[in-house]
Amino acid sequence: MAGSRSPAIGIDLGTTYSCVGVWRNGRVEIIANDQGNRTTSSCVGFKGTERLVGDAAKNEAASNPTNTVFAVKRLIGRRFSDPCVQSDKKLWPFKVIKGNDDRPNIIVDYQGAKKQFAAEEVSAMILTKMKEVAEAFLGCTVKDAVVTVPAYFNDAQRQATKDAGAIAGLNIMRIMDEPTAAAVAYGFDTNEVNSSVKKNLLIFDLGGGTFDVSLLSISNGVIEVKATAGDTHLGGEDFDNRMVKYLVEEFRRKHRKDISSNSRALRRLKTACERVKRILSTTAQTTVNIDCLYEGIDFYSIITRARFEELNVDLFEKCIETVARCHEDAGVDKDNIDVVVLIGGSTRIPKVQQLLKNYFCGKELCKSIHPDEAVAYGAAVHAANLSGQGTEEISNLVLIDVTPLSLGINVLGEITSVIIPRNTPIPTQKSHEYLTIEDFQSVINIKVYEGERVQSKDNNLLGQFKLSGIHPAPKGETKVNVSFKIDSDGILHVSAEEPVSGRKKEITLINREGRLSKEEIDRMVCEAEMYRMEDEQFKNKVLAKNSLEDYTYCLRKFVKDDEVVSKVPGGYVKYVDEAVDKMIEWLKHDVPKDASEYDTKKNELEEMSSTLSRMSL
Ligand code: ADP
Ligand code: MG
Repeated sequence: MAGSRSPAIGIDLGTTYSCVGVWRNGRVEIIANDQGNRTTSSCVGFKGTERLVGDAAKNEAASNPTNTVFAVKRLIGRRFSDPCVQSDKKLWPFKVIKGNDDRPNIIVDYQGAKKQFAAEEVSAMILTKMKEVAEAFLGCTVKDAVVTVPAYFNDAQRQATKDAGAIAGLNIMRIMDEPTAAAVAYGFDTNEVNSSVKKNLLIFDLGGGTFDVSLLSISNGVIEVKATAGDTHLGGEDFDNRMVKYLVEEFRRKHRKDISSNSRALRRLKTACERVKRILSTTAQTTVNIDCLYEGIDFYSIITRARFEELNVDLFEKCIETVARCHEDAGVDKDNIDVVVLIGGSTRIPKVQQLLKNYFCGKELCKSIHPDEAVAYGAAVHAANLSGQGTEEISNLVLIDVTPLSLGINVLGEITSVIIPRNTPIPTQKSHEYLTIEDFQSVINIKVYEGERVQSKDNNLLGQFKLSGIHPAPKGETKVNVSFKIDSDGILHVSAEEPVSGRKKEITLINREGRLSKEEIDRMVCEAEMYRMEDEQFKNKVLAKNSLEDYTYCLRKFVKDDEVVSKVPGGYVKYVDEAVDKMIEWLKHDVPKDASEYDTKKNELEEMSSTLSRMSL
């Protein structure tokens, strides 16, 4: 770990909202951003020469839809050709295109040109924002962080999240699973983290973009993930989209107009729908009211909670099915689940709670930990634990994660031979011996897959490599040892060795296929720094302009003051007066200039002001 003294932070990098926490004075502090919010929109907006990150970007989203980027967590570590990317991008007002190596790139208008960004870069902007939020609070620079990801994230997605951290100038000490982080928060809240009584926890995390269910056990400071299940594409955004679709239809019926291709109208409608959804968690009925939604038409509609539930009930039920799959996988009966913990903003939806409670035969659900903050809380505890900054209580904490998917290689018959089964605690290392399938075979092609299906074509190809120059012999006689190692970040390293010839190949970058190269990351690190400096310059320009403007108006008041007018020669008063008018005009038609230009102008006015003062003494 970077030997810095500054505290290590925990970041919940969410699809829709992110949250940051730090261990300080024996407890976790969740840090509010510059707007005073304890969660920050995972949103980046580009407006002319200005770049907005977080809540400011979300606030501008409706007026700047094509240049406001959100939900990049749905893109990170995925390929452009991934069916999820293909269907997601249809719902987004911003543009996603195919970049190098089948990577999805986001296109925006920024600084007068079309700019392309990788998902890692946009995530890095959000991570930088969270880092700055923490730095403002702590009053020092922050280097080390633990960042959380959904348990369902595969290797490429984890790696890409780490890369985003690197671009943001952070040392990512650990990629942590969100449910594990939530369990840590629960364990601390209830003081059960060091209790010797073993408990089974079911973490139900329904957020904005992803749904995760995990079964964990907790005892003696050890938190172990027994099983995970989930859906990388189920959450609050989907509920919002259902409502948007319904209202687009209603608009068509009422006004005979189709708004579905107008991204600004859709964005405004979506913002309204999210608000309505939140209100419906506590009231039975509310209204959507949007002025001039489309072609000058005001839109008004009443939405009941029952309607909202009807629009989404299949999605809610899908959540419950996933819960069943999760504990059945772990071989744990639902009666043996001691606590059901709700996290993620969407667990506030009453119907979701009701269905879940019914499934557990009326058992009370645990709502004592904060649904929006639990993950960042757990990440902050883990960060303190890893950097040795915590108290004894947290230094005893041991976390055991498991692999979310089975990992193996392709063998004869195009089937996947599993080397590491899913739900194996990590870090782990497993090897398997394979025999050649052809006479005098000299090359063996290792194709690495993840997934639960028998046929390789149904699983996800992570990468491949060749081991050549192996000992030639009749088929079935040469042995090749394939080793899989998963490190504590959940990242996979594969090696193959043929002992007779001594040929060995290790692929640590196997999972980098289709992802960013070292050079690209380095370039993005530089660019991120450049953007940060540009943001800074922009801020300075605005400040300098405001300061000049203020000064100009003060001087105008001063030069019109009766005492000044009576004492200062008329010619000079006129001279200053004209200079002030000219300056006001100049400021009006001003294209953004360098801060120093404003400062120079201000100096000129200051000279006049002091001359006036001297003359009017
Ligand atoms: P993520 O981790 O996916 O970024 P969060 O856990 O922060 O997301 O949850 C965000 C989601 O929760 C959003 O879709 C938001 O609309 C939803 N949400 C927040 N509060 C409520 C509420 N009171 N009722 C219903 N949904 C809510
Ligand atoms: Mg979340």
